Amino acid sequence: MARSPSSELPFEVLTTTWACAVCGADDARPYRAAMYAIGPRTFDMVRCRRCGLVYCNPRPDSGTLGRMYDDEEYYTHGYNLGVEDQNYFERKDELIAEAEEEWAALEQEVGGRGAALELGSAGGFFLEGARRRGWQVAGVELSPPAARYSREELGLEVFEGWLADAPYEPERFDVAVADNVLEHTTDPRQTLRELRALVRPGGHLLVIVPSYVNSGIFRLLLAARAVLPRRLLGPQLCAMLKFGDGDGGYPYHILEFDRRTLVRLVESAGLEIVSVQGSVPRPAHLFKREDLSPVERLLRGVFVVLDALMRWRLAPPASVRLLARRPRS
Ligand SMILES: [Zn+2]
Repeated sequence: MARSPSSELPFEVLTTTWACAVCGADDARPYRAAMYAIGPRTFDMVRCRRCGLVYCNPRPDSGTLGRMYDDEEYYTHGYNLGVEDQNYFERKDELIAEAEEEWAALEQEVGGRGAALELGSAGGFFLEGARRRGWQVAGVELSPPAARYSREELGLEVFEGWLADAPYEPERFDVAVADNVLEHTTDPRQTLRELRALVRPGGHLLVIVPSYVNSGIFRLLLAARAVLPRRLLGPQLCAMLKFGDGDGGYPYHILEFDRRTLVRLVESAGLEIVSVQGSVPRPAHLFKREDLSPVERLLRGVFVVLDALMRWRLAPPASVRLLARRPRS
């Protein structure tokens, strides 16, 4: 669950202003006020008039971002963004099993197994899924408790810190993964270039970003805020839809891509697009239990239909999965 805005600052909060991280323009209009909060300090989202990127401006400065990720609550509360009712580490077995399925699909797309790197490897469950299928795996993770967990509990090779400081040889990997990472970064193009350098020519890069906040569905909801009372939706749905002020908790997502802005960014980092697919992340608690209330059953149906519409490009995606390739020459 996201935390509610409180009157106290948990640590010193400094901010900085920035231009669009995709097209470089400093020409944005207000998009969503008070989307996130650290204590009483709220953060607004703006939208680039040139390319359509949505971003947090002013954003926390790098020192403040560091303090946000040092917070132990990141993986127990902030990480799920109100979507799940269990904390990340409690979902270990389920997430490793899901990862194995995702790697099986990815192997079809990239033509086999090899060495894989995950940026933002969290507790290491996605990498562990790959290792169980015969991949050689390594990770990079900024959060000390998460990096420690993946090394000590799973015995994975995980570097704790920034990607630029990671001790990995250039072109060591066949596949690099950035799953729900780019939206957290202050220079996503540079991050992609660093990943590109670590992948062999002809190797692949899998990028997954949330895109609900930069979608027509969210914009419709924003327009409805004036007439739709929060209590009608209930606290859980409100948090899931990021409907209430400060519902998103800390401003972890300082960038919000859509399909178009993500493709533009990836191409500008010197990568070729292989495939782009939209989907909606399914709340696990709606899909793994059978004792659902009628409302939950209805909600599960809505997710199934939405997911199909997004995969067929009939609705704006809540999540974009992009597979890219480093050119051979
Ligand atoms: Zn822009």
